[in-house]
This record gives sequence, C-alpha cells and structure tokens, in this order.
Amino acid sequence: MIYYKTEEEIELIKESSLLVAKTHAEVAKLIQPGVTTLELDKVAEEFIRDHGGVPGFKGYSGFPNTLCVSPNEEVVHGIPNSTPLESGTILSLDCGVKKNGFFGDSAFTYEVGEVAQDVKDLLKVTRESLYKGIEAAVAGNRIGDIGYAVQNHAERNGYTVVRELVGHGVGANLHESPEVPNYGKRGRGVKLQEGLVIAIEPMINMGVKEIIQLNDGWTIKTADLKPSAHFEHTVVVRKGKAEILSSFEFIDEVLKNKN
Ligand code: MG
Ligand code: MG
Repeated sequence: MIYYKTEEEIELIKESSLLVAKTHAEVAKLIQPGVTTLELDKVAEEFIRDHGGVPGFKGYSGFPNTLCVSPNEEVVHGIPNSTPLESGTILSLDCGVKKNGFFGDSAFTYEVGEVAQDVKDLLKVTRESLYKGIEAAVAGNRIGDIGYAVQNHAERNGYTVVRELVGHGVGANLHESPEVPNYGKRGRGVKLQEGLVIAIEPMINMGVKEIIQLNDGWTIKTADLKPSAHFEHTVVVRKGKAEILSSFEFIDEVLKNKN
C-alpha cells in the first residue's frame, strides 16, 4: 500500500528532513581523527531532542543508537562505539528524525583527515549517483528509472551497486512502500506520482557488490572488505522535477569552513 502525501504532510516531512540535515552539520563539525562514533552519536541525539525531534533509528527494530555509523568497508547499519577514528577513514553516517509524527532520513559519507584519492572518487561518484536518481524521480516515470540512473552512473565509473539494501517510502513510518532499489530497468516498476515521498540512497562499493552481515545483527560490510559509500536524500516526486526535502547545504558549509 502506497500512501501519497498531502502538501501539509510533505511540509512536516520536510521539517523532519531539515532537522536531519542540520544534525548532520552539527556532527560534521566534530568529525576528525581521534573522535569516537559514540561521541558523534551523543551530539546528534542531543541536537535532535533540543529541536523537538526524536531520533528516528533509536529503538527501531531494537537499534541501540541515534546514528548508523559505517566506516570504510562497512556499508550501513554500523553501531557507534568508543574506538577513535583514524585519518584516512571514510565514515558513512545515516540519521533519521521523527517530529510531529513524520520522519526524515538522510545519509552522507564523510572523510576523516586525509583520504586516498581513489576513495575520494568513490564518494564523489556515489553522491553524483544519488542526484542522477533524484533527476529520474519525476511524475510519470517509474521506480526502475531511478534505479537505472543510479546503477548506470555507478557502474560506468567502475563501481558496483549493493542489491540487498534499498531506498524506501518515507512518511508516518520510517520505511514505507515502495522499495526504491539502486539498480533496475527503465520503464519498470511502480509508476511515480506526485506526492510520493521516498528516500533514495545509493550504497556503492569500490569492489564487489556482495555484502555480509556481522554477528551483531546489524553491521553490513562489503564481502571483499573494500570501501563502500552511502548518500541519501528524502525527496518528494513532483511534475518535471523532484523536490529534495533533506539537504546537504548545511554539511557542505561546515566542510568548506573546516578546509
Ligand atoms: Mg537513512
Ligand atoms: Mg533510508
């Protein structure tokens, strides 16, 4: 069952998504060698609660924290811990917020200290893949057009696309129908209509597409332990052009001032 949102509901999802965006930016200020992901998690939770929201992931199916923190070969769903981050690491952070009964969901992969050029390239292409997917998320297209756009951009740059984890509808629930795969065929799948709110979230690997799950029941790693990147926006399907409800602007501003 797909729930198409009213403009009022879209406005509330946007508010939650912008709180996610600003939470990312608060965390981005602190990302450097030596900081721990538990410290980042604490800052994120406080910031969300100070702004009238509730962490969207904490307690979701038993997930213990506010942020999913996934360094290097971890793809998604890593649990914050007290190990200091080292220079050269990439760190995928996924954050969700519930506010006024509606969720927002956005992920970004950060560089910690000095990162190798081939890994920087992976981040750049993954982020571009997300925007290729968003360009395809217009009324009249189909879900497969989004996946095709993401997959095509990632693979033509020599990377692979995780199959087992996908984007999703967003609304009063964190994960709603339809599934939004990062691979697919043009013209296939659910038809996109105005008011459909979805999270598009490419998980792109430098090596093989296969993944493994750790014994903690959460953490997903690449099967060959090569790096993986993850960028995600919550968007609403519109005629002609999707509207991005989350934002990387606050993050980019912080990162620009750090360098
Ligand atoms: Mg997410
Ligand atoms: Mg998501």
